[in-house]
Amino acid sequence: MNSFTTLTKNFLKPSFFSSKLFCSIVTLAIGGCSDKSIEEKEEPLVVVTTTHLSDLVHSLAGDGVEILSLMGPGVDPHLYKPTSRDLSSLANADLIVFHGMMLEGRMGQALEQADKKGIQSIAATSEIPNSLVLSDGNEENDGHVDPHVWFSPRIWSLCVKTVMKKLIELDPQSESQIRDKAKELLQEIELINKWSLAQVARIPKDRRKLVTSHDAFRYLGKDLGLKVIGLQGMSTKIEAGLADRANLVDFIKNQHIPAIFVESSVNPAAMHEIAKESSVFIGGELFSDALGPRGESVVGPNGQIFELDSWGGMMVHNVTTIVEALGKSD
Ligand SMILES: [Zn+2]
Repeated sequence: MNSFTTLTKNFLKPSFFSSKLFCSIVTLAIGGCSDKSIEEKEEPLVVVTTTHLSDLVHSLAGDGVEILSLMGPGVDPHLYKPTSRDLSSLANADLIVFHGMMLEGRMGQALEQADKKGIQSIAATSEIPNSLVLSDGNEENDGHVDPHVWFSPRIWSLCVKTVMKKLIELDPQSESQIRDKAKELLQEIELINKWSLAQVARIPKDRRKLVTSHDAFRYLGKDLGLKVIGLQGMSTKIEAGLADRANLVDFIKNQHIPAIFVESSVNPAAMHEIAKESSVFIGGELFSDALGPRGESVVGPNGQIFELDSWGGMMVHNVTTIVEALGKSD
């Protein structure tokens, strides 16, 4: 076996990727790891794809791991293509946490490559039973499943447990802290779930209709009893046509819907035009496929403050915005 073959063989071993040797070879071969990655790593590097996962890993592992999120606030995961820097981050990861369910549709190849190289990875949604998953029922697109599961507190709790187990595997010494943090997080999710149900109950029944840019809110609608209508389908990859727009305008007028909503990760132009044509107001901006910005917060259950870049802050912001707009009396 020549030295190249030996190198290639070792290259595929998981342990090889977290070693400094790997970094040195990558540095020689492609001209560089970041400065940070060639320093002695104290905490394991967890690379996550979305803001929801960044928050989830941070809530569970705190400062016990270094978290690198490929997408930031306002970034649409359906359209996101990995950069060469992302590929390098993925190659340096001790663990990759991605969402799955085809949410990161254009990252499939990069994640597959990392997997082939033996880098540990987990789809946060991998343990959700099929019975809880919504599909669009459209056989033309192979009945795609709806990936927006973070809007269901019950399903997000399952994702918490899946990621918790993987983090314990990564850092067994921190098991008790990780389990304690998971317990706290699950309690917070339940608190927000109950609070959200009580908030939505304030909207008159015939107004519980949520019109948004794309079909991201079906799990929220199912859990909270809101009828949900998106201009675009479950992915933002296919733009709505003129007929879709005209139908939505008719629907808004016929159903006497008082307000519609724009989303932080989708261009709001089409929704503004629809609002104008339907003579309704924009009820606010909802966080759909990305959490909110860092450093801003919102008041939630029991007067508690929630950061907008957290799952709790995202839910409180969305529910408050929806209830204020749809619950207004004429
Ligand atoms: Zn989406």
